[in-house]
Amino acid sequence: MLTLDELLNLRKIPYSEEQKKRISKAYEFARQAHQGQKRASGEDYFSHCVATAATLVKMGLGSITVSAGLLHDTYEDTDVSLAELKKEFGKEVAFIVEGVSKLSKVQLKGSQEEYYLNNLQKMFLAMAADIRVVLIKLADRYHNMQTLYALPKEKRLRIAKETMEIFVPIANRLGIGELKGKLEDLCFQYLDPENYQRILKLEKETYAPRKKYVDEVIKTLKKKLKEENINFVDIHGRAKRHYSLFKKLQRHDNNIEKIYDLAAVRIILPTVADCYEALGIVHKNYRPLIGRIKDYISLPKPNGYKSLHTTIFGPQGKILEVQIRTEKMHDEAEYGIAAHWIYDRQKGMNWRRLLFQGKHSPKVPAEEIEWVKQLKEWHKQTGGGSDEFWQSLKIDFFKNHIFVFTPKGDVIELPENSTPVDFAYKVHTEIGNRMTGAKINGKMSSLDSILKNGDLVEIITSKNKKLPNQDWLKFVCTANAKDKIKNTLRKAGVKIV
Ligand code: MN
Repeated sequence: MLTLDELLNLRKIPYSEEQKKRISKAYEFARQAHQGQKRASGEDYFSHCVATAATLVKMGLGSITVSAGLLHDTYEDTDVSLAELKKEFGKEVAFIVEGVSKLSKVQLKGSQEEYYLNNLQKMFLAMAADIRVVLIKLADRYHNMQTLYALPKEKRLRIAKETMEIFVPIANRLGIGELKGKLEDLCFQYLDPENYQRILKLEKETYAPRKKYVDEVIKTLKKKLKEENINFVDIHGRAKRHYSLFKKLQRHDNNIEKIYDLAAVRIILPTVADCYEALGIVHKNYRPLIGRIKDYISLPKPNGYKSLHTTIFGPQGKILEVQIRTEKMHDEAEYGIAAHWIYDRQKGMNWRRLLFQGKHSPKVPAEEIEWVKQLKEWHKQTGGGSDEFWQSLKIDFFKNHIFVFTPKGDVIELPENSTPVDFAYKVHTEIGNRMTGAKINGKMSSLDSILKNGDLVEIITSKNKKLPNQDWLKFVCTANAKDKIKNTLRKAGVKIV
């Protein structure tokens, strides 16, 4: 477990004295609150809080988020109250901790159909209400996945599946490639142990020669770049992630010879101009494979990823990928949304695209674009990376929508102010028509109750009931429910008054 100083030193840009003070107070408070509690792995519970905070510090986050990360389980798992957190750490920290606790409701239980999974991801973001809550949840899940071995098998599978279906896509949308890749590999290990072992074996068999020629290329390139007076920040080898290799092998008839980026050399440079110059130097020394030069700097990937990629014939004619990028691009690829604020803004950054591109992405509502604008504005004013900046990251692009659970655990999206009747008609016309009552979170509730994010809604129907009640038209809020009620009544010859 990291000491407080070790934790603080994980950050590239040092914390101010005031920020250090806040984090150190949270560290001590959480340690005392969890005193005597153990994890299933046998470790002190507090080690989980520190591990969660460490991931956040590495992402460059501010002291409020890191403090809330340290305290994230105090409200749910100890006798610490929200009022106490508010008194000791301010309402921002208390609000975030509360948000993290609320999110434990969002679990994968229902249908695994793309449509419902997508709704579940949206519900997760809507209930988080603040991007810092999402980042803490991701960091929390990352450590839980690292210690998953300590749980019983059934629980392991459920959590691994949930991580793969909710947390991985959200990390991907936020552009946090580092965390996404690590979570995916951890899930892979539990969800498909046979293939996981097969991939490990395959990697091991090819490891020694691969390492040898990667090291050789690194040595040569360091020398050549120095000769040409190109200052590089770093040159290192990177291994392809297990799950990523598995997916790629599936697309290439399981033939490892066809995977060109099994080994890669990564060159990190100060400027974009240096990147293109370095590319020239690489090609001067190693023949490139035709058609494999990719310029993701001019044409970034949909999630914002930028780099130059080229595939070369290395020593002994072995094929090797070289990735060339600036330090900023590197941090953005690893830490996504968080890293953007460490650096000056670049024109054309598109938050909407970053968050919502994908084949199942919904049409982008205007308020989402508004959120993006606000982000940019705030960043300009506060300089980014500061605590004030992160305070502004509220997720309100779903503010006119709510997400509720069916008894099976599927997530249904509805407009704000929807009632159980709107819900019933959204699920099925017959359920609406035969409806006699509704339970919200297990409690009998009136049919005109206003539903809230995360509610579990159960509709009670009767076989003998065939027609909807005309009075429902006074309070239903969706056009869908209105139309269906009217149509059913009309068909039955009921005059609507
Ligand atoms: Mn936790």
